[in-house]
Amino acid sequence: MDKIRFFQRSLLGTECDACGGRVDLMQGGACDSCRRILCFRHLYGSWLARLRSEVLGAPPRCVECRAGRTPPPPPQTAAKV
Ligand SMILES: [Zn+2]
Ligand SMILES: [Zn+2]
Repeated sequence: MDKIRFFQRSLLGTECDACGGRVDLMQGGACDSCRRILCFRHLYGSWLARLRSEVLGAPPRCVECRAGRTPPPPPQTAAKV
């Protein structure tokens, strides 16, 4: 059921979980690994990575996940605790 939540969230919130900037859903999106909504710069990092994702149909992975780092949870959920 993660997919449904993902779509709801992408419709409502379009702020990058990494920088807080506005996410253009045509360019950015959600990381398939850490589920953060990220702007183009933080999700793909480069046009080459985006192209590879689109051409190969590979799920998008953010820069941090590709680098093998585990990013912190989104600040919205962390602030509530
Ligand atoms: Zn960003
Ligand atoms: Zn990620």
